[in-house]
Amino acid sequence: MKELENKLMEKRINPTAMRLVVLDYLLKQTNAVSLTDMELSLEKTDRVTLYRSVKTFEEHGLVHRIDDGTGITKFALCQPACTVDGHHDLHVHFYCTNCGETHCLPKTQIPEVKLPGGYERQETSLLVKGLCAECKN
Ligand SMILES: [Zn+2]
Ligand SMILES: [Zn+2]
Repeated sequence: MKELENKLMEKRINPTAMRLVVLDYLLKQTNAVSLTDMELSLEKTDRVTLYRSVKTFEEHGLVHRIDDGTGITKFALCQPACTVDGHHDLHVHFYCTNCGETHCLPKTQIPEVKLPGGYERQETSLLVKGLCAECKN
């Protein structure tokens, strides 16, 4: 539990019992999860409290949200480069059309996108759809 606490404090998040439970769950996931996934897996949580924890994590650079085109927002843990000052892990996300799981591809960076003059970037995301390694076999 000490290790979990440290992970939160590193991102300047106050380690409440609820946040520790959510972090523990997120660390065990191999794919991005929705709020509903979390709600169903974690006992004694309500959606509002859960959402607040995730929101705090997001604001402190601990998790990022992923729009995988399914209409359901998913969340995954960030790379250590993300801090309270901003998210710096511009990696590609992969949506498997067979199992429906969404994965972070932290080693696959989004190439720099050049915008025409007058346009200002707020965020960039890149989603690749296809078959994940497991479904491909
Ligand atoms: Zn798959
Ligand atoms: Zn990701």
